[in-house]
Amino acid sequence: MGNEHINVSLRGRTIRVAVYATTVATALAGVGVLAANAKDRNAPPDVRRPAAMKDYQTRYYQLHTDLPADTVTEAKRRLTLMAEEYWARTKSFGGVIRDRMDFFIFKNYADYIEAGTPPDSAGVFMHWTSGGKRNGRMMAILSSPEDWHVVQHEGFHQFVHMTMSGDIPIWSNEGLAEYFGEGIWTGDTFVLGVVPERRLRRVVKLIEQDRMMTPLDMMKLTHEDWNFGLSGRNYDQAWSMVHFLAHGDGGKYQNAYAAFLGAVAKGQPWEKAWIDRFGRDTDKFRNVYSAWWKAQGANPPTEPQTRALVHTMTSFLARAAVLKLKFETSAEFFAAAKDGKLKLDPVKQVALWLPEALLSGALAKVPKAGDWSLDTKAAPKLLLTDPQGGKFVGSYILGEGKVTTQVAYTPPPKSATAPAKPVSGSSSSSDPDPLEE
Ligand SMILES: [Zn+2]
Repeated sequence: MGNEHINVSLRGRTIRVAVYATTVATALAGVGVLAANAKDRNAPPDVRRPAAMKDYQTRYYQLHTDLPADTVTEAKRRLTLMAEEYWARTKSFGGVIRDRMDFFIFKNYADYIEAGTPPDSAGVFMHWTSGGKRNGRMMAILSSPEDWHVVQHEGFHQFVHMTMSGDIPIWSNEGLAEYFGEGIWTGDTFVLGVVPERRLRRVVKLIEQDRMMTPLDMMKLTHEDWNFGLSGRNYDQAWSMVHFLAHGDGGKYQNAYAAFLGAVAKGQPWEKAWIDRFGRDTDKFRNVYSAWWKAQGANPPTEPQTRALVHTMTSFLARAAVLKLKFETSAEFFAAAKDGKLKLDPVKQVALWLPEALLSGALAKVPKAGDWSLDTKAAPKLLLTDPQGGKFVGSYILGEGKVTTQVAYTPPPKSATAPAKPVSGSSSSSDPDPLEE
């Protein structure tokens, strides 16, 4: 098993990557050497399991973990939603889930390393082929809530590998993995397209200082190049390119990008697949991409984060309905939430139970988010007007052991009166050059 058969996330990657770059390259080579298994010489060695590790079958995963019971409940819920989100966002170019995927989550770092993972890593997806069939194993450490980023990141590598017959270019694979890594779990769904402010500042700085690789050089990177030179800058650049292709200029590149990935996954050389959809002039791509990110830097987007907050509070509003609690005002609802009155029984009501940390984290953000109110007419709705004047309406559907939340967003009036940008027309996958204005 060589260096190209592994996708790895480093601990504290963005600040410590320089220190680990050589270590990891060596470590990855080490994993290759170890790749001897009694049953299958292509497979990595069997996982050395901590004594407390248990096995759980979820809808899409074989989950192996030693996490405490509440976190297992959370993990099962998140993994199901996560896989459905991967699928929904890749279905135009991706495949389907055929088998449950093997997913290891460790509570302690020492056990994670002992299990046979690269030193200094925080998560790893290893894959191999036996009998013409793709196999893969995802392993991650979950010692703090921040580690979910790595779970969502490595989970994407696994999903892509296990559901598609082809492969997508490494910059897209890593960029999309980061895109999902930044996703916010709200209890009943994921909010994607989040641009954390710190990361936005890094990206804009790299662009302004002309320290990004050219898009063409980025696209030329091989999986081995990527693993050998693991660099925080490359992750930021790959993420920023993917995020731009998914959301830039009103989302007009989204379909062309999906078509590009579909063509590459079917075996078309990436150069041709790219030129067919984005044109030959990668400088033009670079200019449009740079200008869009600078505009984001001048006016950091907060809508996805606020949307996530409204989703979370709406999830808890639905739990309040399960508990037959009624409120006249949003203040009453928040007070009940603070007083611990929205708690479900983690055993008897396991299907709808949510962790307390999700609620306390959201409640901490409520006061600064804007003006809240409650619409109590029929099914209660949670309303929020943010400081910029954007309006959010959170509603829910209570099903059998399942809650679905929805959030409608109306931008502030000033952008509503700005001249509307044509979004349609250039977004079709047959359009040869969506960068053309
Ligand atoms: Zn990765």
